[in-house]
Amino acid sequence: MPIHCDTPVQYLKGVGPRVAQILSKKNIYTVEDLLNWYPRGYEDRRAARTLSSLSPGDRVSVIAEVFQVSYMNLGRSQRRIYNVRIKDASGYMSCKFFRIPFRGYFDRLQKGKRVRVIGKVTSYNGQIEFHHPDILDVNENDENKDEIVPLYTEIEGLSHQRILKILKIAFSLIEDIPDTLPETIIRKNNLPSRKEAITQIHFPKLSDADKIFEMKTSAYQRLIFEEFFWLELQLAKKRSQFTRKKGALIREDKRLFDRIQLEYRLTDAQNRTLYEIIKDITSGYPMLRLIQGDVGSGKTIVALLATSIVIQNGFQVALMAPTEILAEQHFKTARTLFKDLGVKVDQLVGSLNSKAKRERIAKLESGETNLIIGTHALIQEGVNFNNLGFVIVDEQHRFGVKQRGLLKLKGKSPHFLVMTATPIPRTLAMTVYGDLEVSVLNELPPGRIPALTRLVYSSSHEKMWNFLKREVESGRQAYVVYPLVEVSEKMDLKAAEMGYIELQKKFRTLKVGLLHGQMKSLEKDTIMKQFRDREIQILVSTSIIEVGVDVPNATIMVIEHAERFGLSQLHQLRGRVGRGSGKSYCFLLPGYALSEESRERLNIMTRTVDGFKIAEADLEIRGPGEFLGAKQSGLPGFRMAHLTRDIDILKKARKSAFEIITKDPGLKLPEHVKLQEKLEKNLDLFSNG
Ligand code: ADP
Ligand code: MG
Repeated sequence: MPIHCDTPVQYLKGVGPRVAQILSKKNIYTVEDLLNWYPRGYEDRRAARTLSSLSPGDRVSVIAEVFQVSYMNLGRSQRRIYNVRIKDASGYMSCKFFRIPFRGYFDRLQKGKRVRVIGKVTSYNGQIEFHHPDILDVNENDENKDEIVPLYTEIEGLSHQRILKILKIAFSLIEDIPDTLPETIIRKNNLPSRKEAITQIHFPKLSDADKIFEMKTSAYQRLIFEEFFWLELQLAKKRSQFTRKKGALIREDKRLFDRIQLEYRLTDAQNRTLYEIIKDITSGYPMLRLIQGDVGSGKTIVALLATSIVIQNGFQVALMAPTEILAEQHFKTARTLFKDLGVKVDQLVGSLNSKAKRERIAKLESGETNLIIGTHALIQEGVNFNNLGFVIVDEQHRFGVKQRGLLKLKGKSPHFLVMTATPIPRTLAMTVYGDLEVSVLNELPPGRIPALTRLVYSSSHEKMWNFLKREVESGRQAYVVYPLVEVSEKMDLKAAEMGYIELQKKFRTLKVGLLHGQMKSLEKDTIMKQFRDREIQILVSTSIIEVGVDVPNATIMVIEHAERFGLSQLHQLRGRVGRGSGKSYCFLLPGYALSEESRERLNIMTRTVDGFKIAEADLEIRGPGEFLGAKQSGLPGFRMAHLTRDIDILKKARKSAFEIITKDPGLKLPEHVKLQEKLEKNLDLFSNG
């Protein structure tokens, strides 16, 4: 019987109902699913090694004998460490498992059994050992063959050898593996066919051995390209659907704009960004733009200047900020800026009483208000606009994808501007914000002195606190931040509370305040306001310090357990100081037992103040999921692609996808029909609202 991609696996020779049942646990139902079950790595059998010749970092395959399997309980918990001792003529070694791959995994490892152990050599307490290596049965007849062998994740009841055998059968019987990408794309990007790529992934050529561990073979390139391509195609499509609508019609009428008096000159980056925005909003199509700019780079004024042009054209503008205090700050800035220019600026936040809210909403609906600045209150039901033409979302990463989109829905295709102070590396921007245009404010206003950043170890803590005291006594203010401990918000709070009590004792003459996540937002705002108005001199807080709030007089930032923060987060926190003209300081206090790796990571902070560089490093270290945080859900899980390593492939995939959509927005041409079908199947990828 001929085998096709959609043939159920149980029709494969060698796969009975039992194996089919096991495979179904891994969501493998068809032959195609099976082919898409890529190996998780490869084994290099070219160089046989003895145990005594290994050094840390080596990725090896060795043949040895099982000597003993034992385990150790970890404290009183249920957790165990398993240890498979192996030996060969040259010596002994441990294979440690911190979790058991599946029940009964160790049963086959009887003393004296010959096994092949594949893994990376690590060192622990001066000894070399393996952590979670693959331990496979040795097949006498392939013992000395030079081969690159794929490694699959073993499943209970299905040995590695068995998996390989099933795949071999599938490949020998399958009639065809049709391609998923159009011929032109494959040719243009110099990619192998899908059939070729899939075959090579499962059965690599020995000549590829040197490239395969870096995932640089043409098979890898093709599969990585494809992962990016689907994502970019979807983004391109979304973008084209959006931009083909008519946007609020704005003419470049600068009468109001020209009457605005600024106390400073815009930086080149601000001018460039402003120009990009004006170009977008006057294009006739709705703008979708992201401003990325380091903390303090002056995003607000750019947005407000653009606002003046929109208002001159008779449209309303809404600016949404994540917190009340930030909304208030923007409100004050806007009111000063538009003073005496006949622009009606209003504010809508949750803490207003209902009468005030009703009045302000009425003014919005009647069109009397030109610019409304607020918080989540703006996206509540019942808040309607007369003529909303421009939506600005500040610190957009603090909002969920949905919330951002909701405000846009209150107008008819309004222009949309989002701003963020968390620089996102370009690679990530191309995927997460792939449907947005991006402006970068990579320049701080002149005269800012970057915060001096130091790691402070416990031996120097006293010295640092004394320094802080002197600064505060001379009129400055300081933040002391404690990390969020994920396991328990309570513990988290406790650390900050204890720090607060200690600091109160230490600095009896100074006013110390406490801010934490379990306070009501009104309480938080009150504390923040007291700090802003210098009624509090030292603010102890959990890591919730409100983003974007400007307290230029604060010049010292102390971060406890700095190693627990992501680098981008540290950079954000550091951005809270150094906003005025005084010299500022950021002290990173690592906890005890700081690992070499963490120390190296924290040192990046002392070496650079460039948010983009820090973001790149952070992304590299933590990966996109953690980097973006929980709110930015919707990043697709890539199976092979890696956002920093594969940037060149990403660029190519993006270019190809956007070219296709430009040429054929509906994907209606015969050569694109299959693309459209595939997109429809995967509609759930994500959306930026
Ligand atoms: P962010 O980009 O972090 O949102 P803000 O918009 O809050 O930064 O601006 C930070 C501070 O810098 C504000 O006090 C603002 O008035 C000031 N500022 C903005 N642009 C300039 C400039 N070109 N020159 C001097 N100061 C500026
Ligand atoms: Mg800001």
